[in-house]
Amino acid sequence: MEPVPCFVGGAEVPLGAGFDKHDPATGQPNARVAEADADLVDAAVSAARAALRGPWGRTTPDQRIAFLERLAAHMEANLAAIVAAEIADTGKPVTVTTNIEIPRAIANVRAFAAIARQAPEETYETKVAGGKARNRVLRHPVGVIGIVAPWNLPLLLLTWKVAPALACGNTIVVKPSEHSPRTALMLARMAKACGLPDGVLNVVHGHGTSAAGQFLVSHPGVDAVSFTGETRTGEAIMRAAAAGPRPVSLELGGKNPALIFADCDLDAAIAGTARSMFDNCGQVCLTTERVFVERPIFERFAAGLVAAAKALKPGDPRAPETTLGPAISAVQREKVLGLYATAKAEGAQVLAGGGALEMPAPFSHGYWVEPTLWAGLPDTAEICRREVFGPCAHLSVFDDEDEVVARANASEFGLAATVWSTDPARVERVGAGLESGTVWANCWRVRDERAPFGGFKRSGIGREGGARSLDFYSELKTLCVFEPAA
Ligand code: NAD
Repeated sequence: MEPVPCFVGGAEVPLGAGFDKHDPATGQPNARVAEADADLVDAAVSAARAALRGPWGRTTPDQRIAFLERLAAHMEANLAAIVAAEIADTGKPVTVTTNIEIPRAIANVRAFAAIARQAPEETYETKVAGGKARNRVLRHPVGVIGIVAPWNLPLLLLTWKVAPALACGNTIVVKPSEHSPRTALMLARMAKACGLPDGVLNVVHGHGTSAAGQFLVSHPGVDAVSFTGETRTGEAIMRAAAAGPRPVSLELGGKNPALIFADCDLDAAIAGTARSMFDNCGQVCLTTERVFVERPIFERFAAGLVAAAKALKPGDPRAPETTLGPAISAVQREKVLGLYATAKAEGAQVLAGGGALEMPAPFSHGYWVEPTLWAGLPDTAEICRREVFGPCAHLSVFDDEDEVVARANASEFGLAATVWSTDPARVERVGAGLESGTVWANCWRVRDERAPFGGFKRSGIGREGGARSLDFYSELKTLCVFEPAA
């Protein structure tokens, strides 16, 4: 089995204690992953602290930008190997991994190089007795950043954090998900090959609670914590970061609505909504799980979605025709199937799927679930409130714009929402009314690295993207210099 070691102080650490990682498509073990103990996490934080005082601490922004550009080019040259590692961890279909997810991760690294290059200078002049004061805003690295990442878009989500943190001159200890350790290790190896000094980017593997994740976020040598994952984990991480206190960036869960108006382009709305439900087997924080359809088009829209669900092709993740991969783990599969059972018990009308997906060998022991659509439940049903994180959604009818905005907002989450309508005035009104960090109109999951991204309510704290990322990964200092009148 492939060994996946930790990476500390520029060196791979002999494996020691570890755990088996399973291929989600087959259910067979395919890697032996190191489990970092508290001492190794401490060593990683110490290496990151020492690196701040080394050559990295003396780099200019231009040198760091040049490093990120070299890294992006190196990632591009190694695209096939990164794709293979990501598939081995997640079972994602090769087409989406090769054409979308890894290229987007590379694009992130380049984008944050450009964002750092274009960071505006802030200067304010203040009149004071006898002259003026010039206030210049300077950026200083925060220090050692602890990054805790999820498994659903492993490398892509990591680059949202690692690239701006490096651009701002920080050092990093990453704890990737125990379900997707490979590409974080590859990133550290590639960064070293591109000349990143030892200790600047460290990777510790392992589990979360009472393990490497918790050791990292509660380590007093970590100056800030950046986390993407479940809301409950975010609460635990915020409690840990309260000691200090240290700043936290939390990108958390969602229960994202799609609002389908009768004046939409129906074919585009069906195709876009299907993608927003079934991409990555529904394991995207931005996935649509609540669909509100205006009454006159409900039947046609629902029929179109059912057809899209049935057209998905589960299968070998490495085959180009495959469009549906498995859930990430046996535990996640059981969670999804448990919620499918809840939907049935709550009286849902099952429009498509509803259970486990039986697959032929060698995938018969993989973690497959059926793409699933329900209707007929009230908004208060558990399946309409709780994030499933699977390829499923509930469809319901609406009659009125204000009604549907209120129903879409009646959620403890507020990460992303999608509106399908050809009326620009309606798009503006509805977009303004939705309590959501991102609202897409007539598209889905279009992201510009310069735009802020994050959640309202229990979907998160803070924003990633553009200047917001630079601000999180920088201590801002005002240098106020008195200049006497000539
Ligand atoms: P998770 O919270 O279970 O795990 C995320 C990471 O946290 C893992 O690395 C895990 O080991 C670690 N962890 C768990 N408990 C910890 C603790 N007590 N202390 C420190 N670390 C701990 O989430 P997941 O299952 O990996 O990811 C799915 C969730 O992530 C979903 O809720 C999804 O909506 C959310 N998500 C949000 C975004 C976003 O941008 N808002 C993006 C992707 C995923």
